[in-house]
Amino acid sequence: MRHQPHTLSRIGDFDPAKFTIYASCGQCAHSAPLDGDRVGQDVEVHTLPDRLRCAECGSRDCSIRIVFTGAGEFEYEER
Ligand SMILES: [Zn+2]
Repeated sequence: MRHQPHTLSRIGDFDPAKFTIYASCGQCAHSAPLDGDRVGQDVEVHTLPDRLRCAECGSRDCSIRIVFTGAGEFEYEER
């Protein structure tokens, strides 16, 4: 039996209202959100680290972090 889990794999699969895709540098720890429109909505996320270069130090030692931001903020209740 083939199990094909549903995975979000392309940049366009991540709703910008719910996810922020961050690139971070392994050399200088520079980190910045990626602009999906600039990178391309059809680009597969797992290919991103190979295509990125750090704007701060020029290193290609980059990694991707996808942060879910769609859950809203916490609400503080006075008790
Ligand atoms: Zn860097």
